[in-house]
Amino acid sequence: MEPSEDDIVSYDSRWLKQRTTWAHEGAPYPLRPELMEVDAASAPGAHVTQRAWRGIACPKCGRCSSRRDFKGWTCETAGCDFTHTLPHALIAPNELYDAFNPLSKGYATSRDRVDSNGIVVQSQFSHNYRINRYELPGICGFVTHFIANRTVQQEAGGPDEMWVEMQTADTGLRRGSKPKGDEEYLGRQFMVNYGMPYKFITAATFRSFDDACNTIKAARSRLNWAQRYVNPGACKDFNEVLAIGYFEEQSINVSNISTRSNNSPAKTVQYHDDGENGLGPTIATLSLGYPAWMSIRLKHNHYLGVTTGENPVDEPPMPGCIEYQERRKAYDEMQTIEDKKERRSKLEALSAKLGLKSKPVGRQHAPDALKLHLGHGDIVIMHGEDVQKFYEHAVSPVGKLRFALTARHITPEHLTPEERTAYVVKEDENVYDGSAIA
Ligand SMILES: [Zn+2]
Repeated sequence: MEPSEDDIVSYDSRWLKQRTTWAHEGAPYPLRPELMEVDAASAPGAHVTQRAWRGIACPKCGRCSSRRDFKGWTCETAGCDFTHTLPHALIAPNELYDAFNPLSKGYATSRDRVDSNGIVVQSQFSHNYRINRYELPGICGFVTHFIANRTVQQEAGGPDEMWVEMQTADTGLRRGSKPKGDEEYLGRQFMVNYGMPYKFITAATFRSFDDACNTIKAARSRLNWAQRYVNPGACKDFNEVLAIGYFEEQSINVSNISTRSNNSPAKTVQYHDDGENGLGPTIATLSLGYPAWMSIRLKHNHYLGVTTGENPVDEPPMPGCIEYQERRKAYDEMQTIEDKKERRSKLEALSAKLGLKSKPVGRQHAPDALKLHLGHGDIVIMHGEDVQKFYEHAVSPVGKLRFALTARHITPEHLTPEERTAYVVKEDENVYDGSAIA
């Protein structure tokens, strides 16, 4: 008989107690997630998927531990010796081949996008690289993108060999962390710093070049060659290399970080600059592995025209900023005024007139002026302090695994005695001259 709604007021308690057993799995159900495994049948890169940078529950003691080391997991319980490493499902250089954008031994095509009229682009072809040089408007500085072709990638000791070595060698790549109150914040990417310490990052490991694998030394040397190529004369050799390994869905997040309880992938890429004190004016990066997009835009204070607080920027307005023409005209007129107060009140009046804001409202960031497609073996050089002062950049990797090897010159005098390392940073001995690809 069909029950009527009135029957609901009285029910049989046996109905509430009824359980249906699920035929497919016997109780008790495992609450502890299984350890991730990779075997010979797994696809290339199976060990660097998004799941591979999540934590584990220790099968010995039950403790949840984060993935800290590139090489695997270590239980964080004092005294527990459990470790878990995955075999390398090596991503061979051929796996990086993109059928839609094939590379040959001819010069590579450029996929860079220039979205600002003010940027002056010059292209050169040399050493099998297409070399795009972007002069950013309004500042003294440039960004140069060396786009590699197959000859570069396959060069002896070059990007293909470096890519394999970075995947397999013990480089010391590890996620950095820093305390925040009672909690610990864990950086997303795996990092290791060689040579002079770059103290502004959360790298967990600092090593001497003497303990570096060939790739680290060769990257330093290749980047020194590249900086001399774009800026002959006035450059200082790099004395630091920061290696960053990005697994799937990890992108740079300098102001940091994901909490240990929130390991979800970054939905937005973080814009930042590399303009810390004590650095030389040139920063060079070698990309290995799957590609990434590097976006460069004006910082919002220069875009909107007001620094923090309500003080209008008393500097020439940057091409590409809002109300540029008006601001340029007003700024030029103002150059005759020497009295600081008068200058300031003029600037304030101008800000009010043009509706310049002190903080970005909603998505009021500058549009990207430049987007560089960083492929395997490509080099990017940012030269000039103004690049870091007026512009910011963000990098979003696309694909399973990418390494960025960034070289800087760090002024030794800028480090306090405590910040200095026990090892001595030697000169670049592995002198690369590009002759094999000339
Ligand atoms: Zn344990």
